[in-house]
Amino acid sequence: MTTASSQDLTFSRHLFDTYDTYRDTALTHRRFKQADILPLIDKLKTDSRFDITKVGESVEKRPIQMIKVGNGPRKVLLWSQMHGDEPSATMAIFDIFNLLRADGEFEEFKTKLLAETTLYFVPMLNPDGAERYQRRNALDIDLNRDALRLQSPESVILKGLQQSLKPEVGFNLHDQSTRYSVGHTPKQATISFLATAYDEARNINPVRERSMQLIVGMNRVLQQFIPGGVGRYSDEFEPRAFGDNIQKWGTTLILIESGGYPNDPEKQFIRKLNYVSILTALQAIATDSYKTESRSEYNTIPENERYLFDVLIRKAQIMRGGKPVTVDIGINRYEVNVGNAATFGYRSSIDDFGDLSTFFGIEEIDATGLTVSPGQIHPDTLRSLADLKKYQLDSLVQKGVTTFRLAAPSRATTHLAPVHLLQPTTSAARPIQTGRIPTFVLRRGNQLRYVFVNGFWLDVSNNANKLGTGVVE
Ligand SMILES: [Zn+2]
Repeated sequence: MTTASSQDLTFSRHLFDTYDTYRDTALTHRRFKQADILPLIDKLKTDSRFDITKVGESVEKRPIQMIKVGNGPRKVLLWSQMHGDEPSATMAIFDIFNLLRADGEFEEFKTKLLAETTLYFVPMLNPDGAERYQRRNALDIDLNRDALRLQSPESVILKGLQQSLKPEVGFNLHDQSTRYSVGHTPKQATISFLATAYDEARNINPVRERSMQLIVGMNRVLQQFIPGGVGRYSDEFEPRAFGDNIQKWGTTLILIESGGYPNDPEKQFIRKLNYVSILTALQAIATDSYKTESRSEYNTIPENERYLFDVLIRKAQIMRGGKPVTVDIGINRYEVNVGNAATFGYRSSIDDFGDLSTFFGIEEIDATGLTVSPGQIHPDTLRSLADLKKYQLDSLVQKGVTTFRLAAPSRATTHLAPVHLLQPTTSAARPIQTGRIPTFVLRRGNQLRYVFVNGFWLDVSNNANKLGTGVVE
């Protein structure tokens, strides 16, 4: 190990250990809106080290602001949340501002950083998408496929900044599916990196080589905190995407994708990893230390693969035409925005069925010797969702009651209790198969073992559970 890299490890460990001092406590979950970050940007206006500029407006006239800090010759442009439902790095950017503003710690680092670099941050490039917690902007355009046509004002802003500032390095900050695996392993790709290609042939010029070198350093740092949890995103050239074009336009481009981590649904640990890895990379830029990294190490990071389900039930028996069939059941839980997208529920789906022995589950259930059958429907019909309050739902679920029938149609698609609600016209007698919501029970003989409601489960034998929100179908 070289001296430079052991310094990186010490520095990043220090950032990790002191993170709580700098974490912005105004941001606690993923579905914040622009209105939540505007006061945080306003706070920076009182600090003369920060320059705030309005660089344009979104389709719906939300101001898009750039925060500049530092006076050094190396320009770095960092933008987050061009996809409105990908906010992990936005949170980390505000944590970074807190570190830069605070006194007392990391002084040597900050002095060097602000003398050697000028940092331009554009947090939440797609505020209209964030308002709805959706990928696309208010024109229903994916900004990351709009780098050539520039039909969205947000795309015009980003290209304009790259062209006018001509930054040496750019950070393109996203979230990816929580179900990406690191190679063909059960490990979630918690962070993935990409040194974006700038042409179909995926050539490596000095601009792209520097992306690889910076990623090699960030990967080494992250392995301390998430061993085996870093993936490499596919470098297939996408001619319409910003990362690919910005690399082509001469800015060394780093794509960071925040994936999943066990029991971190609001991605607060992943936010911390963003904070640590971005700051480590900024230090490497300020000191040029990354220039000694070997780009070949970049290729040793395993590629992202799709070998994960949220839940994988292995070797269950299911009756088909009077005969038992052995199947694995691959279940995914999908978030559904509720109300103004400030909260969410889940609607889960049986996404695969059959021999899934080459796959893994983030949660796995060995169902050897267990038989799948429908859960019980409660004999009462509910006049409304509020009627659920009258029941001891925990004890009903323990007895294998999974479902209630509604007397009148409900507009809700999810709800908080672990119960599957059937609209008046929805048939209950449908086979358990792909595309269906995973609500069923698993028995050994006559003995109830697992109760599944909307892809969440209870192990009746020991009360272990991953019970979540219910669904209305
Ligand atoms: Zn994205």
